[in-house]
Amino acid sequence: VQVGVVIVGAGPAGLVLGNLLLDRGIDCVILERRGREAVEGRARAGFLAAHSVRVLTQHGLADGLLARGHTHRTCLFRSEHGEFTLDYGELGRGEVHTVYPQQELVRDLLAEYLRRGGEIRFDTEVEEISEGGRVRTSDGTDVTGRYVAGCDGHRGVARATMTAHGTRTARWDHGVSWLAVLVEAPPSMEAVGYALHERGFAGHMARTATVTRYYLQCPRGTDPADWSADRIWAELETRFRVDEFGMLKDGPVLEKAVVDLRSDVLDAPGDGRLWLAGDAAGLISPSAAKGANLAVLQAERLAQALVSALKHADESDLARYAADCLPRVWRAHEFSHWMSGLLHGPSAEDTENTVDARARYGRALQYARLDSLRTSRAHQDFFAENYTGI
Ligand code: FAD
Repeated sequence: VQVGVVIVGAGPAGLVLGNLLLDRGIDCVILERRGREAVEGRARAGFLAAHSVRVLTQHGLADGLLARGHTHRTCLFRSEHGEFTLDYGELGRGEVHTVYPQQELVRDLLAEYLRRGGEIRFDTEVEEISEGGRVRTSDGTDVTGRYVAGCDGHRGVARATMTAHGTRTARWDHGVSWLAVLVEAPPSMEAVGYALHERGFAGHMARTATVTRYYLQCPRGTDPADWSADRIWAELETRFRVDEFGMLKDGPVLEKAVVDLRSDVLDAPGDGRLWLAGDAAGLISPSAAKGANLAVLQAERLAQALVSALKHADESDLARYAADCLPRVWRAHEFSHWMSGLLHGPSAEDTENTVDARARYGRALQYARLDSLRTSRAHQDFFAENYTGI
């Protein structure tokens, strides 16, 4: 079988890309390792940036999130020094988040992809991507694409193919882990809550009127099974200092999993016939909720580049794809890294950073920070205030 684009993976990156390609008349097929129910049920992200909402709206993919999502504009920091709330919707560029659970976005994107006549094969694992755009699947069939889009996450075969061909990775292990908990309870506060505590960070993020996400910083290697619901609530109450600030609204624990905070970026998100988007091209720690947003950004850029290549035989946009995305990717990493430092402080468990990957990651952050200082009035205000103050 030969198609324009074989998309590996039906997460946010693959589904946004598939929809945009179909819209421009490019034939594609999505190959997804898991079943439909598993893909539609996986709760992960929830905070969509204004840019993502604009992209999804512009391409007719935002009906669900505009109808059922809600805007969010405040965050709250709590520590032994008290608490303060930032109305970030009134700061900087005055942009807000839209809270919409990732699994609902995925459901909407999939429904629209099918409505546009797209083909998707569930329970089909890609085992190998070869140089001619040939993709070998677990069911023994080969599919060949003029191009292959690797949207299969950070443990996928697309990334492994790129690194096997010599693409290098800048990587940072933040040295901390989070117990990510989903509870059946309304949010306890209006704001996103960040609790800094000597026992470790705790986070609170709204998802829906009846479901809330909490995070608890925990040691590497933590087994979620060791955390009973009682232990989770007791630890959340301690770190959120409920004696001082009031109780949390509790409820049954629906899901718990440990996420190790790691970040990495491939030097080149593609080459020749194979191009990567989303977590496949770079994993970003969840400390600033950027992952799904970078996936949408990259999928949109990649779609434009593939349309030029396939409709006009013009590969110049593909050649520019890395240069188009990487500065924004690194700005997101710089902020996320800053945020991780803010939430956790320095980590002693920094064992997985090789000297080379660490040096390259650190250097790229240095320039992203400089770029932010150059272009962001808010960062300039922050810098000036601290530079001249004591
Ligand atoms: P994925 O969503 O990982 O999709 C990849 C798909 O490829 C999967 O469906 C997988 O089954 C499939 N696949 C893998 N290998 C193969 C193969 N060999 N063959 C075929 N298919 C394959 N981001 C935010 O922006 N905001 C947030 O608030 C936020 N919160 C988060 C909270 C948690 C607990 C976690 C873990 C992540 C969070 N993120 C957040 C990050 C966000 O969820 C990811 O960045 C996003 O899912 C990336 O999308 P993707 O399409 O690149 O990859």
